[in-house]
Amino acid sequence: MVDGDKSTPAPAWLLDGPGAILQLIRREPEGLTKLDIAHRTGISRTAVSQRVDTLLGLGLLEVRSTAVFGRGRPAERFGLARGRRVILVADTGATGMRVAACDATGEVLGEELLDIDITTGPIEVLTVMDHGFQRQMRAHGRTPADVIGIGIDVPGPVAHDTGRVVSPPIMTGWHEYDIPAAFRKRYGCSVIVEKDTNAMVLGEHVRALPDVENMVFVKIGTGIGTGLLIRGELYRGTDGAAGDIGHVSLTGRDDDGPLCRCGNRGCVEAYAGGWALARDLTEAGYAASSVSDVVNAVRGGNRTALSLVRHAGTILGTAISDIVNMLNPAVVVVGGQLAALDDILLATAREAIYHRSLPLATRNLRIVPSALPDPGVHGLARLVADTVFHPAAVDRMLLAPKDGD
Ligand SMILES: [Zn+2]
Repeated sequence: MVDGDKSTPAPAWLLDGPGAILQLIRREPEGLTKLDIAHRTGISRTAVSQRVDTLLGLGLLEVRSTAVFGRGRPAERFGLARGRRVILVADTGATGMRVAACDATGEVLGEELLDIDITTGPIEVLTVMDHGFQRQMRAHGRTPADVIGIGIDVPGPVAHDTGRVVSPPIMTGWHEYDIPAAFRKRYGCSVIVEKDTNAMVLGEHVRALPDVENMVFVKIGTGIGTGLLIRGELYRGTDGAAGDIGHVSLTGRDDDGPLCRCGNRGCVEAYAGGWALARDLTEAGYAASSVSDVVNAVRGGNRTALSLVRHAGTILGTAISDIVNMLNPAVVVVGGQLAALDDILLATAREAIYHRSLPLATRNLRIVPSALPDPGVHGLARLVADTVFHPAAVDRMLLAPKDGD
């Protein structure tokens, strides 16, 4: 997943070291005073002062505000220094890509939407991506030297340890392609590659549902996939393949049901994915080649399209109920291009979920449309920042402050 950092990982970082303190401060948008830190950690005020001075010396902290309490001395609140540091992210779908520049805290400085076709392969798509990165840097007066990390998500399975895409059903030509290497030379920083739905569930958690620790993000676009957040952490499974409900079999037979892009028959996606709906709509006599064609047909009052989307909602709900029964999440967030039809799609999906799930699993369940236009962007920015400012990485900077590791 992470590239550009080949050094041997340090043993456990110091629980009361500067890295641990920075981690605490990063979680507080308003910043913390030295006294806050001493109270929260139980570390002595003298030691807290030393750690804060060290972090200020490394340029990792800035004074966010100064408050005067009574007649005491003014108390400075410290936050993560933003400075010129920039995180570049690219949230990549089958037909569109959102490129953004974020500051070190994950705030979006600017973003743009680009049309792509993922099947044109990595060289073409990554070139479009890098041009987007360069435009964003120019727009915000940054250079490659200011880039502390890059986060990229893709609509396909990613091997968590290498950041490479593995046998992606829709990403023609991307199998085992070394995406981080494409950016290593120009930027020389960590490059994180993640499955799109993982970035989305994290982004939704960070920006919209910070108090929800167990949730599922279901992306319904050209394909169907899910991201799982368990106890506030991404759940990727052993190799990074967890959560792929798009290829769960609905028929339980290999010789039954419509042919899927993965080569099997009867997958959830082969019934309810955007590509399958476009196929069915075309077969019914209304030319449709993309998810937006399907959305437009429904919005235009096409009754065939409407009934196809309703049916897709039922299929989706059936698949989601398996996840609900297995993981008992608090929230299921539905996003992706087809989720624009949430009034129709979610209504039938909800019905199926409640019908097929255990009553205890749905007692506190909420099923909601995504609250953000760009959950992937926020999730990627958080993933990059978590890597760059990991306590162990920060403590290592102390050993080699000039290189910044
Ligand atoms: Zn399939």
